[in-house]
Amino acid sequence: MPKRRRTEEPAAQEDTPMDATPRPSKKVWFEDGNIILQAGNLQFKVHRGVLAKQSPVFADLFQIPHPPGEPTVEGCPVVELHDEAEDLEHALLALYGDASHVGTKDKPNLSALAAMIRLGRKYEISYLRDEGLARLKREFPTTLEEYDRLPEEYLSFTYPETQCGLDPIVDIIKLAHECNVQSVLPALYLQATSWKLDELLYRPDCSSIPFRALCSIISGRDELLNARKDLVSGFSQCDECTTKERCVLFGQGIQAQWLRGAPEPLLALQTWTNCLESVEKMLKHVSIDIVRKGALDHMRLCRACLLKAQEAHNRVRKDVWDELPGYFKLPGWGELKDFQE
Ligand SMILES: [Zn+2]
Repeated sequence: MPKRRRTEEPAAQEDTPMDATPRPSKKVWFEDGNIILQAGNLQFKVHRGVLAKQSPVFADLFQIPHPPGEPTVEGCPVVELHDEAEDLEHALLALYGDASHVGTKDKPNLSALAAMIRLGRKYEISYLRDEGLARLKREFPTTLEEYDRLPEEYLSFTYPETQCGLDPIVDIIKLAHECNVQSVLPALYLQATSWKLDELLYRPDCSSIPFRALCSIISGRDELLNARKDLVSGFSQCDECTTKERCVLFGQGIQAQWLRGAPEPLLALQTWTNCLESVEKMLKHVSIDIVRKGALDHMRLCRACLLKAQEAHNRVRKDVWDELPGYFKLPGWGELKDFQE
């Protein structure tokens, strides 16, 4: 799996004053706005026409006449919403096309991404919701091809370094559960299987993982460790083998050595290139009895056997990916739905 970049700008939250007097947002306040949205004690001056066009929920909300005598700000009616102020600010910034939220160059941080998905879903702003989901899916894909193309770092969003320097995976799992985003769960859980069991059960942030997710990760972890054994099952002699005894011994040696390796669930999806690299490394520490038998004189299989091993490896790997949702007790890839109750 790609390494996760930990650099990040400070959280987008504005200073929270001690008193509860509503105050204007520094980031979303249009002088020509005609409605005030308020979340917590933060107010946003925006345009009802813009919001109503994007969101049927806002459109309905604005139909309700403003009762006489209710407070106004700069002559505009105030609509109180039961959202987190920071969420609403992110969602409005994204809605108004702020480059740091919906740009192709700048990336939103995880809080902004979560706000886009959460409020996009709640207010039926499909543009926000789908933009957020697309960024999430790019990092936690549904196909093996996309998984293999994952870059070494996050492309689609950034996240702040947490106090204990942990991955954002826990927060993203919680977000996916909260918003019923199923399609990203297999790849998310897959990432979480790289934690050791005691980490998973006892690390401080994991206490907030939904219980269902925790069970999925633990059972998936077992399945992957089993599948990992099959990945090198093709390292053996094939029918067209040109150096029979050597390939048999070499294959047996590799398989035995592979099983002795670290119990790393993610190795079940290791690419052929990486697998060969691991084998090379393994050979440096390979048990002396195999070397003595002369099987590793040339440190490799004959060409015919190597091709068969590669085919078998790719087949196993594809099967692992196809079965991945099942490993985590989820419905199959085609049945994972997003945003459904
Ligand atoms: Zn051979």
